[in-house]
Amino acid sequence: VGTVVLAATPIGNTADASARLRSLLEQADIVAAEDTRRLYDLANRLDVRVGGRVVAYHDHNERSKADGLLDQVEAGASVLVVSDAGMPTINDPGLAIVRRAIERGLPVTCAPGPSAVLDALVLSGLPTDRFCYEGFLPRKHSERVQYLRTMRTEPRTMVFYETLHRIDESMEDLLQVFGPDRPMALCRELTKEYEQIRRGSIGQIRQSVIDEPPRGEIVLVIAGASAQEMQEAQPSQFSIEDLALLAQ
Ligand code: SAM
Repeated sequence: VGTVVLAATPIGNTADASARLRSLLEQADIVAAEDTRRLYDLANRLDVRVGGRVVAYHDHNERSKADGLLDQVEAGASVLVVSDAGMPTINDPGLAIVRRAIERGLPVTCAPGPSAVLDALVLSGLPTDRFCYEGFLPRKHSERVQYLRTMRTEPRTMVFYETLHRIDESMEDLLQVFGPDRPMALCRELTKEYEQIRRGSIGQIRQSVIDEPPRGEIVLVIAGASAQEMQEAQPSQFSIEDLALLAQ
């Protein structure tokens, strides 16, 4: 029996590729890549030769492809799963094959490495002892606001992914829902030449996004609710919207 290996790839700085990733790229029998062109591009930059068969493995086919790949694992093949950047399954394909491998009792392991979640968290300067990763914020304004309201009393540091074209509206919603004083960090272009971390209150970061719109890839890290904020959010102070959400 072979093995499924999920491997993290660099999120910007090619030098973050691990020695293990390099040898997996060279030696895996099958490489299941989110985007095959990006895989070859990475291999070129790393100056490694992809030894095995390369198959496209993305959001739209990961469920249907998982069992076929696992049949190969059963027959002795090693299958390497990589996404475009960072850790597979973290807002990227990969979970379907992990689940099916577990269900079928086949070996699955991970070659860890870069992921924007932890990079942003540790650079934010906010507490790291407890945090929650919340993926991308909802796209629609109304859903985003409703969702952010449910996070208002979250005591852990929160990590959100965001895209460039929604950063302006999202910052405005964060300001409206969490208020101007909560500490936060806007982390962009992590590990890249123009890496920048803007730290401050939500009010300050909101203003900085207006004054100097950020470019590139972005992670938002927001401090959890303080003890005082938790206390202030007594049930009697819940808004009608909160009560409606609780009643659902
Ligand atoms: N699997 C990836 C990981 O482990 O971080 C995440 C993939 S998700 C489709 C892409 C999002 O991750 C971007 O929109 C951004 O929020 C975040 N991201 C990825 N690379 C980043 C970087 N170098 N700097 C800041 N954010 C990044």
